[in-house]
Amino acid sequence: MSGLRDTIASSLRIRVLILVLLGFAAVAAPAYMAFNWIVASTVVQLGTLFAEKQILYDRYRGLEALMREVSLAETLAGSQSIRDWANDEANPDLKRRGIAELEHFRQSFADHSYFFTIGASGNYYFNDAANSYAGDQFRYTVTSDNPRDAWYYSTVALGEGCHLNVDNDANLRVTKVWMNCVIREGRRVLGILGTGIDLTSFIQEVVNIPQVGVTSMFVDRQGAVQAHRDQDMVDLRSLTAEMSAKRTVFSLLDKPEDEAALRELMDQVAGGEAVALSRFMSIGGKQTLVGIGYLDKLGWFNVTLMDIDAIIDKRLFLPIGLLLAGVMGLVAAIMVLVFKRAVLDRLKRLEEVVHSARRGEYGPARAMADDRQDEVGRLSTAFTEMAVAVSDNTRLLEARVRARTEALETLASRDAQTGIANRRGFVTAFEAATGRRHGLLLIDIDRFKAINDTFGHAAGDAVITEISRRIVDCVGEGHVCARWGGDEFIVLLHDSAPQLLRANAFGVMAAISDRPVELPDGRSAAVTVSVGASLVEPGDSIETVTEMADAALYMAKGEGRNRVVIFDPSDAAEASRTVQPTG
Ligand code: GH3
Ligand code: MG
Repeated sequence: MSGLRDTIASSLRIRVLILVLLGFAAVAAPAYMAFNWIVASTVVQLGTLFAEKQILYDRYRGLEALMREVSLAETLAGSQSIRDWANDEANPDLKRRGIAELEHFRQSFADHSYFFTIGASGNYYFNDAANSYAGDQFRYTVTSDNPRDAWYYSTVALGEGCHLNVDNDANLRVTKVWMNCVIREGRRVLGILGTGIDLTSFIQEVVNIPQVGVTSMFVDRQGAVQAHRDQDMVDLRSLTAEMSAKRTVFSLLDKPEDEAALRELMDQVAGGEAVALSRFMSIGGKQTLVGIGYLDKLGWFNVTLMDIDAIIDKRLFLPIGLLLAGVMGLVAAIMVLVFKRAVLDRLKRLEEVVHSARRGEYGPARAMADDRQDEVGRLSTAFTEMAVAVSDNTRLLEARVRARTEALETLASRDAQTGIANRRGFVTAFEAATGRRHGLLLIDIDRFKAINDTFGHAAGDAVITEISRRIVDCVGEGHVCARWGGDEFIVLLHDSAPQLLRANAFGVMAAISDRPVELPDGRSAAVTVSVGASLVEPGDSIETVTEMADAALYMAKGEGRNRVVIFDPSDAAEASRTVQPTG
């Protein structure tokens, strides 16, 4: 987990990729929501349009026949001969004319049947298409205590006008939509007449829409289902029966808030605010578009349930979605690629160059040519300039350090007082010169303590410096002169032979004793030296040769000073040969 976080933290590429993907997700989510919203609102509008067309279709075509029957029944109910007979049922003349009127309309009714219940007596007159009851139209008398006659009293209660009722007449074994027209005179009910129409054919014509995903039905003001493709759904005795929960349109809805919404829609279309309205509601766990229209003449609502998924296959939108996703993916890939080439690759090269520079290799930095004038280009140029400066500086510093080191080394191998080599410098020079035959002189000032005592320490210093100068001048270039310590000097004569050794030893002694040394205070001091000399054979160590020269010097001092003694290894007893000073 932390490894992944580290990878992300250390890789700009991964972070950019993640950012681009997040950005697209941020765009894609609202886009998807907007897309869905547009689809849904389009579907609602289409659904509303569909419902509206459905209402118009039902109103003007499917229910044409029903409306015609209602008009005929209304006309019959308004007939004066019917009213006259109802006012005086027993009058044979009025009865004959009333029956004639009914029979006349029976020919016009689609069902070729009628009924007429006279209010005063409750007498029920009926005739059917087969004219089964010619001359015997009186069937029975309705009574308020007979449950089968409840429809009559319910209809009376509804008031003036024609009311539709889907009724299953158990006596006559027919299921019809009944048009019950109430005839009134003032507040008194003269009677109810009407006709029926076969519910089956009605349903066939109107409700059986051969459209997948669409269910059409009619409901009354209470929401009781009056016509439905599924006969079981129809509340056959809605006018009289207790409202059974199973047979109302509301019982289809899953949620109480949808019921309230549907009631509101019903009120709106019944109030004439719109021809049709629709809204998504949950039915059987499915979001269903419920369209509703009002058939004002009948007091019925046309309810259309549309399963949008069955009507509009959302997979139709899949290619568009895939295309969009593909385009977005391509754009993301191009963005990442462009970023990679414009920034990441150049940064990577810069990083490599920086690593090289850290290792001290400035070549790649100098060779890196990113002359684009953008941020990375400027950064690269700045780094190249810096690398050049650092590289130049480093070289300069290295040269200085080398020079300083050499100077320090020189300083370390030189005697500060005289400027000639010191003991260390001599050892280095001696070691560099081994392998050949040389000569060695060890020179010590005679009675130097006395010089210090007589002339002072500063004068002693001046004497030492002067003596060193005289030794160097005498020996000449190409040989090594060094201060061996205190008032003692040492000389390595390159490629020396016995004769040469002797000549140089005497030369040095003479160069010092020939003339007195000028002192800083103007006085002068006569100075002599003793010299121990020896030949250096190839392979001789410095200890060996200095011991030999020292032994010779010791002898020179012992024999009275101001003289040269040359160490002779062949002379076992004497070990050296004393040479008296000249003059
Ligand atoms: P000898 O002939 O036996 O060499 O007698 P000497 O007096 O020279 O004795 P020695 O060489 O032992 O003493 C050297 C003296 O030189 C001892 C020291 O005080 C003195 N000396 C050594 N280095 C310096 C120096 O740099 N300056 C001065 N002024 N005196 C020094
Ligand atoms: Mg001395």
